Amino acid sequence: MAENKVRGSVINGYIKFVEKTWGKEGLRRCLADAKLTEIQIKDGVLYPYIMEQGVIKWISKNYGMEYVRKAGKHTVKNLGLLAYLVRFTSIETMLEKAKSSYYEAYDFGKVEMHISGNRAVATMKDVSEVPENCEGWMGALEGLVELTRKKGRVTKTKCQLKGDDHCEYEIVWE
Ligand SMILES: [Zn+2]
Repeated sequence: MAENKVRGSVINGYIKFVEKTWGKEGLRRCLADAKLTEIQIKDGVLYPYIMEQGVIKWISKNYGMEYVRKAGKHTVKNLGLLAYLVRFTSIETMLEKAKSSYYEAYDFGKVEMHISGNRAVATMKDVSEVPENCEGWMGALEGLVELTRKKGRVTKTKCQLKGDDHCEYEIVWE
């Protein structure tokens, strides 16, 4: 089976969150734990998904899942292109765009976004390998809502890691 891969920009986003939150010493400990000390991660290059997991597992192990969610949110809000685009767009366009942004950043999985009224359902299949991934997605969706300056709430309604066919998140906004 081919190894799942992710764009360096996403891993770098998580790494930047670690440095911003826990400083140079935190970053050093995280990179050592994730075995990323020797690697210069480039934004546009694809890397094994397990490298991203190394970072978020370090976060959950030391600070809890709550911080994985914060890291996902921070990463989405600071991915340059997305953050730039969103200043000129509605939440509906943003969520539609999120789907193509996913495929630009990840070479696996399947994402669907169904929007109706003030509610959207994000269906994500084969996107998570560990619970930390699911938590990161939740934060990422929260970040998208925040970027559009809407008040909203993201709820996890299904999880593939818990036996469902796919992971599913419901996004509701005012
Ligand atoms: Zn899940």
